[in-house]
Amino acid sequence: MNTRIIIFLHLVFVLPALVNGQTTAQVIPKPQKMELAQGVFKITPATSILSQKELLTSAKQLKGYLEPALGYDLAVNPKSGKKNVINLKLDKSLVQLGEEGYKLGITPDNITLAAFSEKGIFWGIQTLRQLLPAPIFREAQVQEISWEIPCLKIEDCPRFKWRGVMLDCSRTFITKEEIKKYLEAMSLFKMNVLHMHLTDDQGWRLEIKKYPELSSISSRFHESFKEPKEYEGFYSQDDIRELIKFAAQRNIMIVPEIEMPGHTTEVFAAFPQLSCKGDTNKIHPWTKGYGVHNEVFCAGNEQTFEFLQNVLNEVSALFPSEYIHIGGDEAPKMHWKACPKCQKRMADEGLKDENELQSWFVKRIEKYLNSKGKKLIGWDEIMEGGLSKSATVMYWRGWVKDVPQKVAALGNNIIMTPTSHCYFDYTYEKISTERVYSFNPVPPGFDEKFVEKVLGVQANFWSHLDRTPPRIDRQLFPRLLALAEVAWTNNDKKDWNDFKVRLQSKLKSLEILGISYTIGNY
Ligand SMILES: [Zn+2]
Repeated sequence: MNTRIIIFLHLVFVLPALVNGQTTAQVIPKPQKMELAQGVFKITPATSILSQKELLTSAKQLKGYLEPALGYDLAVNPKSGKKNVINLKLDKSLVQLGEEGYKLGITPDNITLAAFSEKGIFWGIQTLRQLLPAPIFREAQVQEISWEIPCLKIEDCPRFKWRGVMLDCSRTFITKEEIKKYLEAMSLFKMNVLHMHLTDDQGWRLEIKKYPELSSISSRFHESFKEPKEYEGFYSQDDIRELIKFAAQRNIMIVPEIEMPGHTTEVFAAFPQLSCKGDTNKIHPWTKGYGVHNEVFCAGNEQTFEFLQNVLNEVSALFPSEYIHIGGDEAPKMHWKACPKCQKRMADEGLKDENELQSWFVKRIEKYLNSKGKKLIGWDEIMEGGLSKSATVMYWRGWVKDVPQKVAALGNNIIMTPTSHCYFDYTYEKISTERVYSFNPVPPGFDEKFVEKVLGVQANFWSHLDRTPPRIDRQLFPRLLALAEVAWTNNDKKDWNDFKVRLQSKLKSLEILGISYTIGNY
């Protein structure tokens, strides 16, 4: 490397890192239990990785994370070497930390990372990466830096099993490369679910082999709006397979969302016969038309179910996720009220109003998904007109305060994503990082005996206003780091002032990962 570049890197990354106390233990989300000790472990060319056979993939992953910035190889399981090693091991006695928990011990001689399962080892590796100086995230060799990790002991496991992010890929198409960037950042902060909002009025974004019109017509804005080409498009099934694999390597499950019965006018651009009135809409950018359309799938038309079941056949086969999200929000009922087919369906099924018709619609789809071995998730409106026993509810209407308790009391699982704290398309003036951090997904007064029904928490990003990668980045970061701690760290261990200090040190890592973030307005 050119000397001038080395000096530059030294000034830009090493000095600030030391000034900011990068060698102290600054981890987000905060581990449940951490004890600092004297001294440091130093990674040098003599360092090696020891691993059981079952953890060779993890060992290679760790190598892959570290070697670009180190600029040298780390041997895995060399013949000699008991000192200066990073030791990865499965330990069934750590079952009390759960599938995702891990135990990390760092002394000047060795690092030991142990967990009940490979998932825990993966999260422990993320902690280890964060304990190194931020330039470890560079993809080229960084010289003149001492790769020191503070000596400590950590015992850690997540508070919630669902630690999610929703990206709205419909209002604005988000490229595969951008999604990989977010997956990489999510995994560093131990987030484990990416919910892809794949269909909505602004575009259908998933290739369905049986219906090529969904790609050729429903994924494009109407030409009269002269939208930039990069805002539209779709993911081929191969793209999705690539993303699923990339995510799985980072302990992240991708959950697809296919909206129904509302937010579906992009489907009617290609298949108008599936709406009650046979309407067809010009697919418009969100700012140039209604946010909620009155046209919805006709619940009285068998063709609607034939279409949706064919779509769900391909979706179920493509996504290994046990969950499929079917939307269910913001579906106006006025066309159902006026539609003879829908009214006949209500009479035939003995449904007393259109809310019950929506509930019947969702239950019919749920039964179909269950037959494919999948579980249904829907936005909280799926409660209206009656909730099935097994559906999982995604709570978003922050202003309807009694929903979480009601859902849990019915025995259904709930994921907390209220507009009050989790809507990352909102401005920082409305939802500051501090406000996100203050969120407790188990609301005050929530009945203790239902706590286990709260699967977790999720940030929702809608792409109607912020549509370019740097602007999307700045809506997500640094709020996402605050939510990561909400999702992982027990409420009584959280401390905003302490988080703020740790956040400062992580901003450098985000920069190196090519992620923009909003400064100030914490
Ligand atoms: Zn109808």
